[in-house]
This record gives sequence, structure tokens and C-alpha cells, in this order.
Amino acid sequence: MKKDTYIEAIKQLNLYSHHYYVLDDPITTDEVYDKLYHEVLEYEQNNPNDLLKNSPTQRVGDSISDGFIKAPHLSRMWSLEDIFDSDGLEKWLKKTKKLDSNISFYCEPKFDGASLNLVYENGELVRGITRGDGTIGELITQNVKTIRSIPLTIEHKEIIEIRGEVVIFKDDFEAINVQRAKNGEALFANPRNASAGSLRQLDSSVTASRNLMFLPYGVGKNELEHTLLSEKMEYIYSLGFRKPPSRAKCKGFDEIEKIYAEMIKNRETYPMMLDGMVIKVNEISSQMEMGYTVKVPRFSVAYKFPAVEKITTIKKILLQVGRSGAVTPVAVVEPTDIDGVVVERATLHNFDEIDRKDIRIDDKVIILRSGDVIPKIIKVLTHERKGDEEVYKRPTECPECGSELLNEGVLLKCQNLNCKARIVNSIIYFASKPCLNIDGLGEKIVVALYESGTIKSVIDLFGLSLEKLLELDGFKEKKSQNLLNAIEKAKGCDYWRFINSMGIEHIGEVASKTLSDNFGSSFIDASKEQIIACDGIGEEMAESLLEFIRVNRETILKLQESLLPKEPEVKEEAKENPFKSKTIVLTGTMSESRGAIKEILESLGAKVSGSVSKKTDFLVYGEDAGSKYDKAISLDVKCLTENEMRGMIDE
Ligand code: NAD
Repeated sequence: MKKDTYIEAIKQLNLYSHHYYVLDDPITTDEVYDKLYHEVLEYEQNNPNDLLKNSPTQRVGDSISDGFIKAPHLSRMWSLEDIFDSDGLEKWLKKTKKLDSNISFYCEPKFDGASLNLVYENGELVRGITRGDGTIGELITQNVKTIRSIPLTIEHKEIIEIRGEVVIFKDDFEAINVQRAKNGEALFANPRNASAGSLRQLDSSVTASRNLMFLPYGVGKNELEHTLLSEKMEYIYSLGFRKPPSRAKCKGFDEIEKIYAEMIKNRETYPMMLDGMVIKVNEISSQMEMGYTVKVPRFSVAYKFPAVEKITTIKKILLQVGRSGAVTPVAVVEPTDIDGVVVERATLHNFDEIDRKDIRIDDKVIILRSGDVIPKIIKVLTHERKGDEEVYKRPTECPECGSELLNEGVLLKCQNLNCKARIVNSIIYFASKPCLNIDGLGEKIVVALYESGTIKSVIDLFGLSLEKLLELDGFKEKKSQNLLNAIEKAKGCDYWRFINSMGIEHIGEVASKTLSDNFGSSFIDASKEQIIACDGIGEEMAESLLEFIRVNRETILKLQESLLPKEPEVKEEAKENPFKSKTIVLTGTMSESRGAIKEILESLGAKVSGSVSKKTDFLVYGEDAGSKYDKAISLDVKCLTENEMRGMIDE
């Protein structure tokens, strides 16, 4: 790097930081920021005389936005040094152990949210302040008081600053963005920006509506006398703060690597986003001896996780026609490696999303791939446009059969029942895992069978013979026989699978099970009143089912004759008990798996549901209960520990 490039890089980093910290709307990925930051850092180490005062290496965060009252922290808040691999860890350990060889470590997740400082005086929360520039932050006490995981009073009388991260759980983040899309508001790029944005609201009722969560990670000013950080943290949790989903004490390189690998493995199962693991020296006296640089503590480091967000380019937009005729756009992107997987496509959900995000062909975008979910585009980098990006025009004709598309606003639909894509996809769906689970009947084979005229609908699958299959290109004896065996095996399936396999609009796996449990094969003659009386089935679902039966009665009966699904067993009615006919939600870690507890409760005639609502009768919670617990409390739902639940069963 030359001096000119260094000056430019600082300008660029400060621009990125302004969008990230002040506007809560980043214009690049953390990976790009981190790479440039480390180049700048290296230049400064080699050319200390050129160091500019406004370099991001010399300060925490960015300037504070107007609109809030500013407030000083009682003791400084810091950033963290980053490492990215084993090499970095080794170097950091060497450096740290040089300062003090007799140390151990405390590891916990690095939560990806917004940092917050809470000041308690005489056991009362008196101030909530954002990190700001580390010395002065924004005073947001009113907003902070709306966060239910922050106790307003604690059993600790001396003055204390409790520091932590405010996060939004992944599920809540999705729900907020769905709501914002409905209101025509700009979407948050990720949970971090959503939590920072929600925390720094001028209207605290907005903050209150966002279900923010506070996770403490340390203290500022304090009079605590613990000699280990781990003990200090246990004390903080005992005051009523939430524990992190994992934490561990350890000695050296191998143990740290093991905990890090474990945390990456479990990353997706945690309700909040993590962007790394923080390693801290556990001995407080050693921490004090090591001290701080201008920006970070020397006794702590962030071991970052592989990036899940990358920048790529939209090459084109493909159209997929589903079994219901709905046409969905899919983005084809420049192949990009995200954590070891080459991503080539990203979901766009629907055409409104293309308009809302103003996605154009050749646009540079930030793409996110996290866990098993299909990669998605979280942001268009409009500031990188050259001007020749192509605005996307919605299609008017089905890309498969050419028939005119019905414009339903958000959705475009092919109405041609004989459209190849609709038929092929309905057969693929019929054979899929949550339906008839017919092994070997994947897309390629279905297309071959359909294109050769061998099958025209699912019913024809049951008329296939070895002779017919052997006439087709590429169908050898073994492959053909396997397919016939798999189709034969599907016969006598559970009744709900049969209902699910027909792909009735709005009737998914859960509703199919409900219909099967309530009616078995007489679902075909159930009245609207009877259908709506079933738990979890609403008006729209009932109407869709009745319409499907009206149009397809003959086909349903024919298919039933070929498939011979088994009638559901009549469940024995549970004896009277406090959980019979009650709706129960489970959360947190219990002595047995949640599946096992669910079985116990279901055998007592309870319904176990996934989310807390006003209709929930009980919430049963274990260790580290999450947002469901907070929601249950706010809705006055009765909360039971696992032991209380077992006690009630025994009684
Ligand atoms: P940081 O977020 O990397 O680390 C420090 C912060 O981590 C602390 O202030 C604290 O709030 C938080 N934290 C979470 N869990 C913690 C735990 N268990 N213990 C201690 N602290 C914990 O540092 P930073 O200075 O706020 O931000 C720098 C990072 O922000 C960069 O590495 C970059 O990835 C990102 N950034 C991105 C852009 C962008 O445009 N995408 C711009 C600026 C910064």
C-alpha cells in the first residue's frame, strides 16, 4: 500500500463505518471492511509517522448521531482485536502469554448486535448508554427500560456498569422484515442492524415492539472482588441477567480450538446471530496488568467465524413455475464461495421483492448463506452502479408453456392446468419426503416419464410396468425395477401422507395430519363447519380444501383406490389430568430431549405448539429459556419449570 492508497482507504473505511454505526444500513460486508482495515493496520505498523488521527484503528465506533442526548461512560468501552484462523490464535496466545504466562481463558459467543452499557445505582437501573465512541454514547434509558431481559432493579447496591450486547433473535428478525415489507418500509439488512436501529429509536414504543434481548458480557465500573472473570459473570447472571447459550473455561490452544469448532457447529441452532467467539483471560489481576491499546483490551480477542455474507453480481433472473402455477423469480449470481459452498442461485421470493429492493441485472449485491436456508440477497449495492444495469421487466407469459400469466399482484400465475412445469412439479411433490416418500422419483426421471408420454399425472404412476419402462431411453432393468418397487412401497401409506401428497393449496403437513386425525377417509365429505372446528384450520384453508374436493373428487377417489392409504388409528382418550386438551409450549434445555417431553404431554392429551400466543395455556421452560419465556410472561401465560410440570403429572 502507498501513502495515497492509505489515505483513500481511511476515507473508505470511515464511509463504511458511518453507514454501519450511524445509519444502521451498511454498504458493504464485514469481510470487505475487515480486509481493508487490516491492510490499513499493516501500513500503519510499517509507517508509524504517516498515521492519521481519524484512522479507524485509533478509535471505537464512529461519531454519534444527533437526536439523542450524549452521556459519558463511567469507565471506557472498547472494541476487540480480530483473529481469523489458527495462525492468528497462535500468535495472539504467544503475545498474551508473554505478558503473563500463568493464565487461563474464558470463552463465550461473540453476539452480533449492538453494545450497551447499563448503569445501576443503589440497585436501580439509572442509565442505558450506547457504546458510541467508547467514552461518550447516546443516552437511551427509556428505550432500554422496554427490554424485558434487562432488570430494572437488582440486588446489588454499589454502583455498577453492566455491559452487554443487544440482539434480535433470528425468528423475530424475519417477522420484523415481513411487517416492514407490508408497510412498504425499507428492510433491515441483518439482525445486527435491526437491533442497533431498534435500540436507537426516538420513540421508545418502537423499541418495545421489537422484542430485543440483552446478553451481558462484562462489567465496566464495579467494586466486585471476584478474582476470575467466570465468577464475575456467574454473579451477574445471578442478578437476573440472561446467560449466553454457551460458555467455557479453558487453558490453551487445543482446548480453545475445540470450543471454537463446537461453537461453529452449533452456530445455527442458537436463536441469535453470532459472528465469532470471544476469548478472554480469566484472571482479573492479569487482565489489569495487561491493560489496553488505544482501542482494544490486550487480554481479549474475537476469533471470527467464516463469513456468511459475500458480495456477488446478479447475472440473470430465471423463472420457475411451481405445481400451483405460481411463477417465482430466482437470481442467478456469479458463483461465490460462502463458507465452503459455491453459491450460484439466490431466492427472490416474488416479483414485488425485485421491485422493492430495485434489483437489476449486473447489480452488485450482498448475498447471505446461513445454515440450510436457500441463499438470499440482503442488499443491492446501488452506490456501485455504473449506469448500464438492466431494469427487470415482469414476464407476461409462462416461461414453460407460453400461456398468458394471471397477475395477482405479488404473484404471477400460469393458469394452464396442462402446463408441463405444473404437472412435473406436482408429481415431484407427490413423491417427495413429506408426501409419499418414493425413492428415486426425482426431477430427471419425472421429466423423462412425462416427456415420453408414459405418465400424464400421478395416477399413471400406478399403471407403470417393467415392459413400458424398458422401452424408454436410459431405463435399464435394475433402475426400472427399483422405481416400481418404490412406488409399490408407497401403497398403504399413512392417511395424512395421502392428503399431503395432493398438494392442496394452504394444506401442508400439519393440516394434513389434523384432517387425517379428525376424519380419515371421510375428509372428502366433511362440511365447512366440521373442517373449521379442527384445531389450526381456518376459513381460507377450509375453502381451499372444499374447492379442491369439488373439482377433483373423482381423481381423489381413484388415487385412493390405487394407493390404499391406511385409516388413522383411533387414539385412546387420555384420562383427566391438568394438561388434557391444553396448549403447551416448550422452551430451553430440559433433562430429556424436547421430543421426549412432547410425547409425554401428547400422551396426556395436550397439544404441544411451537410458539407462544394468547391461546397458550402453559409454557414449560428449562435452562437458558429464550424469548418464548419473555413472551409468555408478557402475555400472562402460566410458566412452569420442568420439575413443576412433572410434579403436576405425578399428582
Ligand atoms: P466488534 O463488533 O468486532 O467487537 C467489539 C464488540 O463486540 C464489543 O463492543 C461488543 O459490543 C461486542 N461483543 C459481542 N459479544 C461480546 C462478548 N462476548 N464479549 C465482548 N464483546 C462482545 O468491534 P467494533 O469495533 O464494534 O466493530 C468492528 C467490526 O464491525 C468490524 O470487524 C466489521 O466486521 C464490522 N464493521 C462493518 C462495517 C461494514 O460496513 N460492513 C463497517 C464498520 C464495522
